[in-house]
Amino acid sequence: MTERIFNFSSGPAVMPLPVLEQVQRDLVALPGVGMSVMEISHRSSTFEAIIAKAEADIRKLAGVPDGYRILFLQGGASLQFSMVPMNLLTEGRTADYLMTGTWADKAAGEARKVGTVNETGSTAADGFGRIPTDAECAFTPGAAYVHMTSNNTIEGTEWQRLPKVGDVPLVCDASSDIFSGPIDVTRYGLIYAGAQKNLGPSGVTLVIVRDDLLARSARALPSMLNYAVQAENGSLYNTPPAFGIYVLALVVEWLLKLGGLPAIDAMNERKAGRLYAELDRTGFWRPTAQGDSRSLMNVTFRLATEELEKAFVKESTAAGFDGLKGHRSVGGMRASIYNAFPEEGIDRLVEFMRDFEQRNG
Ligand SMILES: *Cc1c(COP(=O)(O)O)cnc(C)c1O
Repeated sequence: MTERIFNFSSGPAVMPLPVLEQVQRDLVALPGVGMSVMEISHRSSTFEAIIAKAEADIRKLAGVPDGYRILFLQGGASLQFSMVPMNLLTEGRTADYLMTGTWADKAAGEARKVGTVNETGSTAADGFGRIPTDAECAFTPGAAYVHMTSNNTIEGTEWQRLPKVGDVPLVCDASSDIFSGPIDVTRYGLIYAGAQKNLGPSGVTLVIVRDDLLARSARALPSMLNYAVQAENGSLYNTPPAFGIYVLALVVEWLLKLGGLPAIDAMNERKAGRLYAELDRTGFWRPTAQGDSRSLMNVTFRLATEELEKAFVKESTAAGFDGLKGHRSVGGMRASIYNAFPEEGIDRLVEFMRDFEQRNG
């Protein structure tokens, strides 16, 4: 089968078709190089140019100012759950964690192995169906940092504002909504994201970190887990995930050509808006995230019975859609519609939903 289907996978997720086509064209031999990107030294001038362009384009796309480092690491977002506290949660201090879902809980769990954690803003009592209000967040004065998860991939909620952390560095797991819309990097101390949802293939993790925070990394840390060492070596302390960085750079270039973050934001608003409008149209569908907390990236919904949900997943697969089953921990359905998900796929899904509702409503 060479025909592409509509892929609603939560991650690894759909990639922009023009990027896949360019990777295919240039896979055997990079133009002018005569070797695949997989076959060249990471110390070669060719790869140096690739990683330098990746960084420059990210700076341009997201307005990352001087004073912030851009790192390409490995180990996924899950290794950042450990690296963040190992580097930033210094002796005698407390880190605040905003408890908005499964991934936030995992991040806090790893931090507790390193030091003192204050969990706050939990919406567990509401099934994580919403983002906490400012009044529900109690921060520790002088905390080492505050950790948030900007988009809760499993529960389908997303922060529409930033928590009020004052001067305390804000650390953000942006794995599932990075570069889905404009971002003011200066409001963060550190941003991290596994690439496989909105940036490229799995195996590369983007970290954007404010210079002054690098001073917290203890020399005793294992070198590979030390932000300062990674920064001093320009992400080339050891062999980096070269292929992943190359593809990530193409994705960022694709975003720039589209018109940057305002343009992709408008597309994401249109796509999610159309899907939520359908979910709200009748009582048949049961969207799980509350209105002001709804994610533009992961649209979660249920039906009246688990039998109906099973039928929906089965029939949608037969109709040429993939990945609509919700995460095993929460059940129901989830349509992950990241940057690269085509608008046409939303129209096709809505048609399918109308038909399903008519037959089962
Ligand atoms: C997918 C995901 C993770 C886990 O990412 P890995 O790269 O597999 O470790 C962490 N946080 C969020 C918000 C995610 O969506």
